[in-house]
This record gives sequence, structure tokens and C-alpha cells, in this order.
Amino acid sequence: MFDISGETEEEFSTRLAKNLEELILKEGPETIAAFIAEPVMGAGGVILPPATYFDKIQAVVKKYDILFIADEVICAFGRLGTMFGSDKYNIKPDLVSLAKALSSGYLPIGAILVSPEIAEVIHSQSSKLGSFSHGFTYSGSPVPCAVALEALKIYKERNIVAVVNKIAPRFQDGLKAFSDSPIIGEIRGTGLILATEFTDNKSPNDPFPPEWGKFKT
Ligand SMILES: *Cc1c(COP(=O)(O)O)cnc(C)c1O
Repeated sequence: MFDISGETEEEFSTRLAKNLEELILKEGPETIAAFIAEPVMGAGGVILPPATYFDKIQAVVKKYDILFIADEVICAFGRLGTMFGSDKYNIKPDLVSLAKALSSGYLPIGAILVSPEIAEVIHSQSSKLGSFSHGFTYSGSPVPCAVALEALKIYKERNIVAVVNKIAPRFQDGLKAFSDSPIIGEIRGTGLILATEFTDNKSPNDPFPPEWGKFKT
């Protein structure tokens, strides 16, 4: 083991990129189709990338010709104060997954964006081999699509990104005001996403004991 205390965010990112490269070499780059990440990990605990993380990771995946998939299901459409989370961290993804705010959550719909290079491969090979048969029972279902189009229109009309940037400081600072509470650990977030850790006695890695959550009978 080595001492990582005092490691800067940049050094942490360098270490993560080095770990990734070692793993790719161990597995064999030709066995890896893609690297997938959320710009900010949402449901996994609102984990913001350390400084320079995506610059360093993208350099590694590019070096070995591994595709980058950005899972933008949570981050897209202004959540981080940019239209896409990828814009915030200068990510140049080959594929992008979208859902949730695509319809502002009103109807279930998801979408995949594909780079022209990948679309061209699918297009040229399917005309050689026959059709590219890929679909879902409810693909292109008209009602969710109409709602998604309307949601996108409203985002544009109301300039959703500007609205997020206007209200985000109040949201972030407002919740960070609770940092002194004895039961609050780290509060972290950006734009309109934020997590508060509930801790036992301010020791950041000690959550409340699970038995406190049990129902009393
Ligand atoms: C919700 C979520 C998904 C799943 O989206 P579905 O539309 O339920 O398939 C994928 N990725 C992230 C980051 C999510 O938050």
C-alpha cells in the first residue's frame, strides 16, 4: 500500500487513469468495446468527477480505440448548468444515452445518440448484409415522442440552461447552510443536483447504524 493522503484531485485523476490503462492492457484492448460513465454519477451518490478526470480518462480510451459512452440520462438538458453534462467536462462521446428529462419525466422515453462514424458503419454494413434489425415493441411510440418534442421546445423557449444557472447558487448554498449540523457530513453537488450525507457524529464515513432504521414493534 502507498500513502495517498495529501493527494490532489489532479493526482487522484492521474492515478485513476493509470489504473484504467493497466486494466485495459491486462484484459487486452481488443476485448473492450466501450467505456461508459455519467458526467456526474447521479443515483450512485452524486459523485462529481475529480479535476481533470475526464481529460485523462478520454486520453487513455482514445489511445486504445475504445468508444466513450456518456450516460446523460440524469445530466442532460441543463441539470448541471450546461445543455449536456458532457459540455461541462469537455467530454467528446461516441454514444450518448438519454431519458428522464427528455420528456421532462412526463412520459417514459429514452434515446441513444450515435456519432456519424458509428452510424456510417451500421448503415454501410446493413446495406451489405440486409437490414439492421434492431427495435423495441414501443420504439417511436408517437405520444411519448410528441411529449418529448414539446419538452425540448419549452426548454428552448425558456432557456433552461440560463434558468438553471440562475437558481443553482441558491439551491447549492441553501442546502450547504446545513453543513454545521451534527448529523450532516459532506454536501456536494453542482447545478441542480446535490447530495447530503447523513452521518453519525460528523465522522464522514460513518453512516447511521442500520439498526436505527428498524421499525419498533
Ligand atoms: C434512470 C437512469 C437510467 C435508466 O433509464 P431508463 O429510462 O429507466 O432505462 C440509466 N442511467 C442513469 C444514469 C439513470 O439515472
